[in-house]
Amino acid sequence: MTETDLLRRNVNLIGGQWVAADDGATLDVTNPADGAVIGTVPKSGTAETRRAIEAAASAFETFRKTTAAERADMLFALYEAIRTNVDDLAFILTSEQGKPLAEAKGELGLSAAYVRWFAEEARRAYGDLIPSPFKGRKLMVTREPVGVTAAITPWNFPSSMLSRKVGPAIAAGCTVVIKPASQTPFSGLAWGALAELAGFPPGVINVVTGSASVIGAELTANPLVRKITFTGSTEVGKILIRQAADTVKRVSMELGGNAPFIVFDDADIDRAIEGAMIAKYRNAGQTCVCTNRFLVQDGIHDAFVDRLARATGELRVGRGTDEGVQQGPLIDEAAVAKVEELIADAAGKGGRIVEGGARHALGGTYFQPTVIAEATTAMEIAQEEIFGPVSPVFRFNDEAEAIALANDTPFGLACYFYTSDLGRAFRVSDELRYGLVGVNDGFITTEVAPFGGVKESGIGSEGGPYGIDEYLDLKYISLGGLD
Ligand code: ADP
Repeated sequence: MTETDLLRRNVNLIGGQWVAADDGATLDVTNPADGAVIGTVPKSGTAETRRAIEAAASAFETFRKTTAAERADMLFALYEAIRTNVDDLAFILTSEQGKPLAEAKGELGLSAAYVRWFAEEARRAYGDLIPSPFKGRKLMVTREPVGVTAAITPWNFPSSMLSRKVGPAIAAGCTVVIKPASQTPFSGLAWGALAELAGFPPGVINVVTGSASVIGAELTANPLVRKITFTGSTEVGKILIRQAADTVKRVSMELGGNAPFIVFDDADIDRAIEGAMIAKYRNAGQTCVCTNRFLVQDGIHDAFVDRLARATGELRVGRGTDEGVQQGPLIDEAAVAKVEELIADAAGKGGRIVEGGARHALGGTYFQPTVIAEATTAMEIAQEEIFGPVSPVFRFNDEAEAIALANDTPFGLACYFYTSDLGRAFRVSDELRYGLVGVNDGFITTEVAPFGGVKESGIGSEGGPYGIDEYLDLKYISLGGLD
C-alpha cells in the first residue's frame, strides 16, 4: 500500500473496523476535472449507521473519562498526521473536488490549524465556582462532553469542515460519527485513516458513506446521538433541525450565505480588487462565504467594474492538478446549470455581461469567470446563493442605501466592505446583520476566531475560544452541608 492508498480508503470505518456496506452496494466517485470515475465507496444505510452510532456510544463511556491532556496529545498526533501527509491528502481532495492543488493544500493547512487549536483548547475547558448566596454551600459548574456527535459535511471543503467539528468534539471528550458528502467521500474517509495513524481508540471516530437522507434520518432519530453538527445548505439544515427535534438534540448549523461586498467611494481600489478576487473566486465561487453581490458606490463604480473585469478575465481556468491553475471545474453539471440559469435571468432583466458569461472552452463543468454589471434586486442572483464564479455588480448612492441593500436577505453569514474612513468602518460594522464582517479584508477565516452566521445562515459558532462550547454541556453541582 502506498501512502496515498493508506489515506484513500474505499470502505467505511465502524468501531475500528474497515467495512463494506452490508449488501456490498457502492457509490461511484468522479473527478470533476474530466468526469472519470476515480473509485467507489460503500453505499451504507440505516443498519450500518446504527452500528456506527452504537460503536461511538460504547467508545464514549471510556473516552469521556480520558484526561484533557490525553485528548490534547491525541489531537497533536492527528495534527502531525495531517501535516506529514499534506501532499497526498491534497491530491485526494483535488481529485474528487476539483479545486486547484494550491487551494487544496491551503485547506489541509487549515484543517491542521483547527486541530492544533483544539488540541490547545482541550486543556482550557474550565468550570466555575459561583459565590454562594447561602452559608455552608459551594456552587460549582463543570462542563461535560455532550456525547455522541454526528457530523454531516459538504463537498466544497471536504477536509477543513470536518476539522472544525471533529477537533472540538474530541477536545471536549465526545465521540463522532462522520457522514461526508457523496461527491467527496475520500477526504472524509481519510479522517478515519488519520485517526488510526494518530492512535485514536476504536469507535472514537467512525465514518459512514451512502445516501444522505437515509443516513441523516438515522443520525437525527437515534437517541444515542446527542448532537448534530452540520455544514451545508439552509434547505437541508432546516430538515435536520426538524428531524433532531423529536429527540431534542443539540444542533450546530453552518448554512448558506448571500455575502455582500461593499466598495465605498473612499476605498483603496487596489486593496478592494485584491480582496474581491479572493472573496469571490476562491474554490470557483463555491464557498458559503463567497461574495454573492458586489455593491459599489457611484463615484468608484465604473473604475471598479473595469478593474474587476480585467482581473477576472486573467484567471487561469483548468485542471486543479495543473501548475498555475487558479480556477478548477465546478463540482457537477447541476452547479453549471444553476449558474447558467442565474446569468440568463440577469441578462434578461438588463444585466450587462462585461466578462465571461458562458461555459468554458475546456468543456465538462468548467465555467468562465464572469462579471455582470447593472445588477438589480429584481434578479434572482440578488437572493439566490450563486455558488459559482459569477460577480454581479450593483450600484448604490449612499451609505444608508448600501446597508439596506446588504441586509435585504434572509441570510447573515459573511459580509465585506472597503472604506478608508474610520468612522464609517465602525458605523457600517455595527449595522450589518451578519456573523462575520471583513473590513478591508477579503479572507477572514482563521482557526483562532469564531465562524458562524445569524438569521437563516445558522446556529452556533465554530473555531476560536468559543468553538468547544458547542460540544460541552454545563453541569451545576450544589454542595451543601459544609457549615
Ligand atoms: P451542498 O449544496 O453543499 O451540496 P447540501 O446541504 O445538499 O449542500 O449537502 C451538505 C451535506 O448534507 C452533504 O453531506 C449531503 O450529503 C448532506 N445531506 C443532503 N441531504 C440530506 C438529508 N436529507 N439528510 C441528511 N444529510 C443530507
